[in-house]
Amino acid sequence: MVKPLSILILFGSSALYLVYKLHYITKLIRMGRPEDRFRPPGRRLVRMLNKSLLQQAHFTVRVPDYWFSGFLHILILAGFIVLLAGELEFLFFGLFPEAEIHVARQPFYKYHLLLQELSAGVIILTLLALAYRRLILRPSYLTNSPAAWTILGLIFLIVSSMVLINAHKLHAESAALHAVYRDLAAYMPIGRFAAWSVSLTENPFFAEGVWFVHLLCLSFFMPFIVNTKHTHILTAFPANYFRNAGPPLVALEPVDFEAEELRLGAERVEDLSWKQIFDGFACTECGRCVDRCPANQSGKCLNPKNIILSIRASILANGPLLLGAGPADAAPKPLFEEGFDAGEIWECTTCGACSHVCPVGNEHLRDIISFRRHEVMEEGRSPAILQKSLKNLEDRGHPFRGTAFSWLDWRKELEVPVFESGMEYLLWVGCAVVFEERTQAVARSMVRILNRFGISYGVLPEHRCTGDPAKQAGNEFLFQEMALSNIELLESLGVQKILTLCPHCYHSLRHFYPELGGDYEVVPHPEFLAWLAESDIGRGRLADSHQTIVYHDPCYFARHNNYHARPRALLERMGRIREASRHGSNTLCCGGGGGHYWAEEQGTRMNQVRAGNLVEAKGDSIVTSCPFCLLMLTDGLKAVTEDYRLYDIAEVFSTHLEI
Ligand code: SF4
Ligand code: SF4
Repeated sequence: MVKPLSILILFGSSALYLVYKLHYITKLIRMGRPEDRFRPPGRRLVRMLNKSLLQQAHFTVRVPDYWFSGFLHILILAGFIVLLAGELEFLFFGLFPEAEIHVARQPFYKYHLLLQELSAGVIILTLLALAYRRLILRPSYLTNSPAAWTILGLIFLIVSSMVLINAHKLHAESAALHAVYRDLAAYMPIGRFAAWSVSLTENPFFAEGVWFVHLLCLSFFMPFIVNTKHTHILTAFPANYFRNAGPPLVALEPVDFEAEELRLGAERVEDLSWKQIFDGFACTECGRCVDRCPANQSGKCLNPKNIILSIRASILANGPLLLGAGPADAAPKPLFEEGFDAGEIWECTTCGACSHVCPVGNEHLRDIISFRRHEVMEEGRSPAILQKSLKNLEDRGHPFRGTAFSWLDWRKELEVPVFESGMEYLLWVGCAVVFEERTQAVARSMVRILNRFGISYGVLPEHRCTGDPAKQAGNEFLFQEMALSNIELLESLGVQKILTLCPHCYHSLRHFYPELGGDYEVVPHPEFLAWLAESDIGRGRLADSHQTIVYHDPCYFARHNNYHARPRALLERMGRIREASRHGSNTLCCGGGGGHYWAEEQGTRMNQVRAGNLVEAKGDSIVTSCPFCLLMLTDGLKAVTEDYRLYDIAEVFSTHLEI
């Protein structure tokens, strides 16, 4: 009776606590704003299995430690799934001891035993490898918290006690049971080894003690995981079901200014959506977002993991208050006050490296933009320099303060048609191309290409900015004002296809404009050029210079839109690609995104870090496809080398055109 009673009391209360705690966490999560993260179920399910079961997210970036830990996680997850059956058996035999002999005689049982034994062996080896990683390899981004060691110890105790319980079965006191297990010994390789090497396994008191240790660990395991970062054992699968489908990598939903309950961004945890709150409970604290964050790695105060964990800490600390258990007039403190420094949110370049690498698909950038929206639209606060650029955007329609150029200067002495109804493409010439001398050359190259191939295109009759700098800075009001005015103009002109020269313009027109009613076919210029090179009119027209090219992927192409193969295919027609260590969707930010082109950077400059990384690849030239990257890297390269050749892909195309 002792064993069944112990199970009922210890395991039963632990299971009840688990259910209570999960119910409470679910209530907290549901306090967030509503949003649909359930459809389409089929695609979400497949993604969940890929990301969680196959741990795909660990392998998206080629960092040996990510792969190593991803592989270990696959092993431990598979072992856990198999061991679940073993734990059910443990509880069942504990509650109904007389059933053991009947079950053990069933033909399937030997395979079940073998699987349990093999899984136990795999888990023990995996735990040793995980401990080696934490003690010897010690990746800088991994926090060696007591909770992490406790879970490793707990799993080790659960699995090793299970092996010892199996070992004792080979010395079972009951003759009938002993005979059954003697026949099953061939299927218990680890139990046999333990029985041979630990003589104590013969001792029934020792076996009873081990049985209780196993039960205690199992009972402690459940409350432990729901009160620590190990909640992710339960939330990782749903997190990967709810993750943003993309592209875009991160969904930045528009503010509904007509809504009855208007919320301008987020200040407190309850201003966030349920998915944003859920992210806090999904975080595994692996630290990869910090490891990949260019701002953090260049010494800025921004810590994306900290932002996610602050959300969890805040909802847990303020849960009772939010659920109505506190004084009626009390309200949770703003996240800026108790979670993280408000300065952190302005260090983000919106590069998306954090979300790209996060194994549970957390959307740090979305939180950061939510907080920026509150700061800008509710409080009127943002870094002074950014404020001036936004003011310029508001007053003059572009964010380039103090520029010596007018919006017409770039096309002097060029034949550039103005868009008329019936033309195929609207060439969208963004601010970064118009108002800086270096990037004007990109637009000129593009116009020469379009004219030479007789493409039907035109430009707007007046300069327009997509409003993207305002969106990324959190001024959604200004963004929507500009976007709606642009949509009105585009509709009046009958525009259907837009050819962009900047990934930020592309991203905005492609993803944010449809939400406001402006749906166009948006073609980024590398894609257009790749199409041209393959088309009847362009095939065979590009000369191969056989030079080596290092391609710098702009974050808003490679990461936010998963667009990196086609520009390479195009460049391969004109030379040979030589990859920088950070390339493709693992690209390293130039430091200019999220309004940082206009900001004053403190400490190590991100553009110099990226420039050094590109130079290390030792190509004849560096090529990119973003005017901001071109400007940031031009500056960064000056600090790294005296001898550099940096171009936009349109310039390379133009110079490789055979006359
Ligand atoms: S988006 Fe980029 S800069 Fe911003 S927190 Fe993520 S990794 Fe860091
Ligand atoms: S937010 Fe994602 S990447 Fe960052 S520590 Fe948590 S799980 Fe890891």
